[in-house]
Amino acid sequence: MERSVSPYLDVALIDLYGHQTLRQRLAESVNAGTLPSSLLFHGPRGVGKQRLALWLAQRLLCAGQSPPCGECTSCRYVRALTHPDLHWVFPRPRFRDSDPDLEQVRDDYAEATADRASAGGLYSAPSGSEGIFVATVRSLIQRASMSPAIGSRKIFIVGDAERMVPQEGADMAANAFLKLLEEPPADTTIVLTSSEPGALLPTIRSRVIAVRVPLVPDEEVKAFVADPLVKAALDKDRRGTAAERVRAAAGAPGRLFSGESNARATLAARKIIDAATGDKRWQRYAAALSQGAASARGAFSDTLDALVDLLGERARDALHRHDDAAAAAASKSVDAVLRAQTRATGNVSPQLITAKLVRELAATLR
Ligand SMILES: [Zn+2]
Repeated sequence: MERSVSPYLDVALIDLYGHQTLRQRLAESVNAGTLPSSLLFHGPRGVGKQRLALWLAQRLLCAGQSPPCGECTSCRYVRALTHPDLHWVFPRPRFRDSDPDLEQVRDDYAEATADRASAGGLYSAPSGSEGIFVATVRSLIQRASMSPAIGSRKIFIVGDAERMVPQEGADMAANAFLKLLEEPPADTTIVLTSSEPGALLPTIRSRVIAVRVPLVPDEEVKAFVADPLVKAALDKDRRGTAAERVRAAAGAPGRLFSGESNARATLAARKIIDAATGDKRWQRYAAALSQGAASARGAFSDTLDALVDLLGERARDALHRHDDAAAAAASKSVDAVLRAQTRATGNVSPQLITAKLVRELAATLR
């Protein structure tokens, strides 16, 4: 169709790589009319869960002969992230206004989505202080009650859904959201995505059909890093050969775009684990002290998030090796980090929290 229809049609999401089996399964259930209305895509961070959900949206909204055709107006709108029946939300910084109106929320997402589209759909993981706040949930509920704008269906994607923030006095919105998940309107599909499905409220988990999104095989990651748009983005500020990039992605292409703040958080998290498992006492104090009081709370909460990820990987790895003791130790230490996260929301200094955490991890991990 005409390229003038939307100002964003000259930008488009980079192709989805991998997940062929899953795509086929999803397409089959769409064809059979058995696709559940409320889904949860879960799997490792950076594996392409939100991209897969966008692919599913394109598949559902396509008006072409062999969907997703990539040629029809719907497909092009989805690829440009401007389809009015596709609603994609993800963690955002907290609004200055504690109770923003729905228009403010929509403007914020329109802008953030346009940013993602202009980068081909490559984005870094949200920082620890970003969340999906109650105003966003209200906006979703309102949109879901309306008829589709141009298509016959509407699709809602809630990325990093475990970041939905329960807020005081927002019980009505929370209940309305649960009801929406349980009985969406007939023309509505909702896809939540999460790399920490265990952190989702049980009331949410019980209302969605979980679909595990696996790691992407190296062959597909190789094709991804060779994609001219991906290559251009990676060449801009990173070195490394294609083979090194495939290795660094380790089956999760999104890891290559996890951003500097995430790399810092991962490094800080590694230091904490090293301090807990090492035998040098001074390391423990150093790890605690490196969480400077001046360092933003956001950065500390990113570090704790990264720690949960690393320990989670450790637990899965141990399970894989049938090392039950190590798996139990790792999951026990995840609990310790979760308690630290709770403490971090209070008025306790990051150093004190880290010092206690290192002691607890030393007791469980060694
Ligand atoms: Zn199409």
